Amino acid sequence: MTTIQVGLYFLLGAYILFSIFFCTLVLFSTFADSVFIRYLSSTHLGKPVVYHLQQVVEWLEGPKCGICLAQYWSTGDMAPRVMNCGHTYCGSCIEIFAEQKDGMVICPFCTRTHFCNTIHPLPFFSENHLLIILCSSLITVNLWKCQTCRKKYSSQDVSRTPRVYSTCGHTSCEACVESDFTQKKRVVCLTCEGRSGGITENWKPHVPINYAIRDLLKE
Ligand SMILES: [Zn+2]
Ligand SMILES: [Zn+2]
Ligand SMILES: [Zn+2]
Ligand SMILES: [Zn+2]
Repeated sequence: MTTIQVGLYFLLGAYILFSIFFCTLVLFSTFADSVFIRYLSSTHLGKPVVYHLQQVVEWLEGPKCGICLAQYWSTGDMAPRVMNCGHTYCGSCIEIFAEQKDGMVICPFCTRTHFCNTIHPLPFFSENHLLIILCSSLITVNLWKCQTCRKKYSSQDVSRTPRVYSTCGHTSCEACVESDFTQKKRVVCLTCEGRSGGITENWKPHVPINYAIRDLLKE
């Protein structure tokens, strides 16, 4: 066999392996909730296989805007933007809301009203930085850690709930935000030191739950 033949066989092999992998992914994402997949994930050997396939499919699909169901992008109009209530939508949807209500954005989820500019509403809403990282990284959300205490975020453990500083869009865990507030009696972002609100008795309205991130955590 010449070197060219070996190279061709190698390419063919790689192509076949990739095709099998791709077909498995497509089948998996189509039948993710089927009886077979559920049975497979209940078995000792199948569980890690299903888990890792799920991670790959999720990464390929990426997080989506809850309104228009389009995939978030890490930049531009489709970047995720978080509102003061902690809910996140894509920039395009926020622009449409602002235009419909003349500079007023009513959160479709919790109906809280946010005021902004009709022509350029986006600067009024910070980008959800942690969600942007997910759009452009292979790291699964279950492995994400609070940058301050290095502990994993959790949807079950209240102290590890991801909280978002709505003025800058950075996320920290509830325990870190609370302990910082207890010391300083003011709300200051632990990532960029940007202030959210003045002297306050209750930090929670200034640092709402980052719902988009919390909902991605599966435990
Ligand atoms: Zn949208
Ligand atoms: Zn809301
Ligand atoms: Zn923390
Ligand atoms: Zn910040």
